Amino acid sequence: MNLLEGRKYNIITFGCQMNEHDSETISGMLQEKGCREVLTKEESDITVINTCSIRENADKRFFGTLGQLKKIKEKNPQYIACVCGCMMQQQHIIDTVKKKYPWVDIIFGTHNIDRFPQLLEKVACEKQKIFEIMEDRQDIVENLPAKRLFRHKAFVNIMYGCNNFCTYCIVPYTRGREKNRHPEDILDEVRGLVGDGVNEVTLLGQNVNSYRGRGKKAEDTDTVCDFADLIYMLNDVEGLERIRFMTSHPKDLSDKLIQAYVDCDKLCNYIHLPVQSGSDSILQAMNRKYSREHYLELVRKLTEAVPGITVSTDIIVGFPGETEADFEETLSLVKQVKYDSAFTFLYSIRKGTPAAEYDDQIPESIKHERFNRLVDAVNEASAHNNAAYVGRIEKVLVDGRSKRKDNTLTGRTEGFKLVDFPGDDSLIGQIVNIEITEGKTFSLFGKVVQRHAAF
Ligand code: SF4
Repeated sequence: MNLLEGRKYNIITFGCQMNEHDSETISGMLQEKGCREVLTKEESDITVINTCSIRENADKRFFGTLGQLKKIKEKNPQYIACVCGCMMQQQHIIDTVKKKYPWVDIIFGTHNIDRFPQLLEKVACEKQKIFEIMEDRQDIVENLPAKRLFRHKAFVNIMYGCNNFCTYCIVPYTRGREKNRHPEDILDEVRGLVGDGVNEVTLLGQNVNSYRGRGKKAEDTDTVCDFADLIYMLNDVEGLERIRFMTSHPKDLSDKLIQAYVDCDKLCNYIHLPVQSGSDSILQAMNRKYSREHYLELVRKLTEAVPGITVSTDIIVGFPGETEADFEETLSLVKQVKYDSAFTFLYSIRKGTPAAEYDDQIPESIKHERFNRLVDAVNEASAHNNAAYVGRIEKVLVDGRSKRKDNTLTGRTEGFKLVDFPGDDSLIGQIVNIEITEGKTFSLFGKVVQRHAAF
């Protein structure tokens, strides 16, 4: 008997694309069990909170949301509250959840997502709590179902975990060491997605540039397929129109990958290249293993090889020991690169990381003051770059209706610029030519000039 058949579920996801994709997998597994997705936790019989531990505010939001589940449980005794994701790979968090949030029924981690349906069935049947965390694992479970957020685009994991140990980051402790999928498995998945109507894939990994996949067959196990090789292979997949990837560590970005941008017409002219700081001494303290000069040289090579490439980044403000001079170096780098966009973060202590122990933490007031100056510089560059798009015709993959403006659709250019434009729902999922009529700080506005863009 399937005890889960007909139950309603709601998934709340915090954090990055990795987490979003994990939630798609959890959703796919629940649908296979006959469950039905609902829009709010209040309507659901099963709530899953997929947590993120990268930023302090995600922690706070998680505990706030977790507190709200108590009332739902009181009203519905069949209700099952589940938590998973990066935070659950940290013992002190598990202890807090067990002690302060006794209405939680299931805790699982980042390495045993495939086990979730079994855990859920057991809880539904035996009405007992289950807390199951794996430290790490060597194998990769293939062929898990996914209920994708979009029909026309999909995330594809190419690797899991991270070996880099940046001193501020908790990910290597919560996601384990790097594990690469076989290139054949990735290709099979992408071909299947294309057959299903997907025209854009985003390849996911904490550092895709260190991807080293090996063939599955015994005679192929010595053959290493690096990230650029994988891009070339995917570029040949018939019916696929766009390839993106996330995230790319500057220390491992190869000339071969830059050449792949030139050779592979499906690889979008966009790169997210996290710099984190413009100061060599801070980069060293962060254990980033590249210098400011090396980073700028990469940007120079990319913009020379791929004219018009758009570049975005991540920057942390107020890392321990950051002086005003260090910060000025970050500001000058931002002004030099003229990023199209940047995710800017205030450094926050992550328990269990080396930087949490550094004694030269920066006062919050200084962090905020620097943060505001940084955001101004980023926005200025972004507005300047976007203004230059006016009059251009861009190929835009239409994602859906815009939440920002009534009667408008929204989509992304090859360079990942957000574009809003008037149009009807029949365009969703298609690539259309849009003439840009306005360039704002965070987005572009335009009008359709040709419904189906030619390639
Ligand atoms: S590369 Fe650094 S920042 Fe990125 S996940 Fe790994 S340790 Fe964290």
